[in-house]
Amino acid sequence: MEKTLVLIKPDAVERNLIGKIISMYEERGLKVTALRMVHADIDLAGRHYEEHVGRPYFERLMTYITRSPLVAMVLSGENAISLVREINGKTNPPEAAKGTIRALYGIDNSLNSVHASDSLENAEYEISIWF
Ligand code: ADP
Ligand code: MG
Repeated sequence: MEKTLVLIKPDAVERNLIGKIISMYEERGLKVTALRMVHADIDLAGRHYEEHVGRPYFERLMTYITRSPLVAMVLSGENAISLVREINGKTNPPEAAKGTIRALYGIDNSLNSVHASDSLENAEYEISIWF
């Protein structure tokens, strides 16, 4: 079974969307196989987003992701990595397909409610950071 790392980001936790978001994954057959709530510090957030260091939005991203608790979880299932990214929708909520998490709940290009790994290699790395 493939595994992927998902974050329910602070903007979504703050708006009481944990249950709704987890349901969307479970309804598609994905299994929650690890879960924890974490208030990330800059060190943890920086390791998670290390490939974005130097981007113009990096400081804003660090402030956002560390501002309040988030939910980190491992989802397992067939083609979990691509399936979860499909359920999440495109990074920028107005561009995300109808019915995706980001279309439903995302606020903007930065505050977009969820994260998911984008490759096997990144999934392994990100799971090792949070669990
Ligand atoms: P994804 O989360 O869809 O994999 P990226 O890996 O490109 O997207 O970016 C990581 C996160 O950084 C995004 O989810 C978003 O929170 C933030 N981000 C990306 N691009 C921008 C941008 N142009 N402006 C502000 N925030 C951004
Ligand atoms: Mg990414």
